[in-house]
Amino acid sequence: MTREQDANPLESPAANGAQCLALCVWLPLGANEFHTDGDMKLNTSSLLIQMCLWLLGSSLQISAQVPAEVKDEAYKLVGAVYTGPSMETLRELSDGFGGRLSGSPAHKRAAEWAADKFRSFGIKNVRLELFTMPNGWQRGGARGQMVAPLARPLHLESLGWVPSTPEGGVKGEVILIDDVSADAIKKKADQIKGKIVMIDAAKIFAEGWQKVLAMVDAAPQHLKDVGALAVIMPDHQANNVIGAFSMDWGGHESVLPIAQLGMEDSELVRRLLEKGPVTVQFELHNITSGPMQVNDVIAEIRGSELPDEWIIIGAHLDSWDFGTGAEDNGAGSASVIEVARSIAALGKAPRRSIRFALWGGEEEGLLGSSAYVQAHLNEINKCVAVLNNDNGPGHPKGWKVEGRNDLKETMQPISDELLKDIGGGGLSLETTYDTDHGPFMLQGVPALDLWVDMKPYWDLHHKSADTYDKVDPVDFKAGSAILVATAWAIAEAPKPIAAHLDHAAVGEILKKAGLDQLLTDMGQWKP
Ligand SMILES: [Zn+2]
Repeated sequence: MTREQDANPLESPAANGAQCLALCVWLPLGANEFHTDGDMKLNTSSLLIQMCLWLLGSSLQISAQVPAEVKDEAYKLVGAVYTGPSMETLRELSDGFGGRLSGSPAHKRAAEWAADKFRSFGIKNVRLELFTMPNGWQRGGARGQMVAPLARPLHLESLGWVPSTPEGGVKGEVILIDDVSADAIKKKADQIKGKIVMIDAAKIFAEGWQKVLAMVDAAPQHLKDVGALAVIMPDHQANNVIGAFSMDWGGHESVLPIAQLGMEDSELVRRLLEKGPVTVQFELHNITSGPMQVNDVIAEIRGSELPDEWIIIGAHLDSWDFGTGAEDNGAGSASVIEVARSIAALGKAPRRSIRFALWGGEEEGLLGSSAYVQAHLNEINKCVAVLNNDNGPGHPKGWKVEGRNDLKETMQPISDELLKDIGGGGLSLETTYDTDHGPFMLQGVPALDLWVDMKPYWDLHHKSADTYDKVDPVDFKAGSAILVATAWAIAEAPKPIAAHLDHAAVGEILKKAGLDQLLTDMGQWKP
C-alpha cells in the first residue's frame, strides 16, 4: 500500500468543506421527495437548512488554512518580486554571459556571478558545490554540403557531446535507417559500412521518445561497430532551424560524429534517396575535454525555529549555446535569485531553512541536482519540499504536484487562499522526469514544478531565438510571485507539507506515469 493510499481525504478540512456542501445539496432534495406534507416539509427543510448553515459555518472557519500573518508576509514578498530587479538580473545573466554549456568558462563565470548576487543580499551561507561530469564539451563550428546528385550547402550543426570529424571531414553516401535496434543494425551491416547513416527520426520517435530513448542512446556504438562513418539526425523545425540537444543521457562523449540537419534539407535528402544515391560531406569541430568539474550554486537562509528542516528552490543555470539561455533557464535562475533577494529583505527569517539552488548539468541529464541529492542523502529526510522552476517564463497556471494526490490535497488551501488571487491557483497531477525536481522526487521528497503555459517555450526551446527579448515581464514575474508565496507558506507551516514517500510508493507513481521502464533503462531508478 502506498502512503498516497494511506492518506485519508476526510482528514483534510478542505475535503470536509466540499463534503458538507454536497450533503446540504442532497438532503433537502431528499426531504422534498419523501415528505409530501407541507408543514412537515417546511419543518424538515428549515431544520436541515439550519444544520447546513452551521456545518458550512464551521467548515468556513476551519477552511482558512493559511494564517493571516503568513498571508500578509507572502503578499509582501509578492509585491517585492513584482517591483524588484529580476528583469535586470535576467538581462545581466543572458546578455552578459551568453549560452552557458555546463562546465564551460561562461557557465563558471555565471556561477560565480550568481554566488556574488546571493552574498550581496546579505545571505551568509553561499557556496559552490562541485560535481564531476564525464566530459566537458564546447562547440567549434560545423559546415556541410550535398555533393551529389545536387551540389548545394546544407544547414547543419553538431549534435551536443559528439566528437569532431576527422581532419578534412567525412564524405560518403547516405543510408536512411528506420530501426536503430542492435539487431536491425547488424542485419544491415553490409549496407551501413562506409556510409553516413541518416536516422529516420520521425518514424523512430513516432510513439514518443520515452519508449525508444535507451535504444537510440545505444545506437551510435552499434553503428560504429558495423563501420558507419558518421550519423545525420534530422531536425523537425520549419525553415531549417536547428534546436540543440544531445543523444546521450549523462554527458558522455558520443563514439561517432553526429550532425543535426535542418528539416527541409533532410526532406530533400529523403526525396533524392528515393531516386538514387545521395552523397554528402560535412565537418564538425568540437572541443571535448574529458572529466570536468561543474558548479552547483547553493545559498541558504537558516530557519529560525526548525533550521534542520529545509525546502529547496531550484532552477538550472546551465543552458544550450545557440541562444543565450534566457527562457531555458535564465528566467528560472533569475526568479530563484529574486525570491532569495525578497526573502532576505523581508527582515524575518523563515521558520524552516530555505535553500536556493542554481544547478549545473541539467541539460545533460539532471546531473547537478542528482549529484546534490546523492551528496546530501544523510539529510534528505529533512527536505520538506523541492520547488523547481524550469518550464519557461510563460503565463503561469500554478503547480505540478508530480502525481501525488496527498500533496495536491495539502497544497489546495495554499492554492485557494494564497495563489488563486495572483493567478496561480491550479494544481496538476502530471508526473515528469524532465527537470531538476526529478532526483528529489525519486527519493520521495514532495516535489513541486512550476506549471506554466509552455506554448511559447517550445517555439524557442534550445534555439538561437532563446534570448532576453522574448521574455514577457508580467508572466515572468507572475511565476516568481507564485514561487515566493508558495515557498513562504511551506516554510512557515506548522507541519511539513506532505510526508516522504517510500521507494515502493515512488515506484507506483512512476509506473502510473509510464516512466518506470525509461528511468530503469537510463540507470536512474532501481525498481
Ligand atoms: Zn531547462
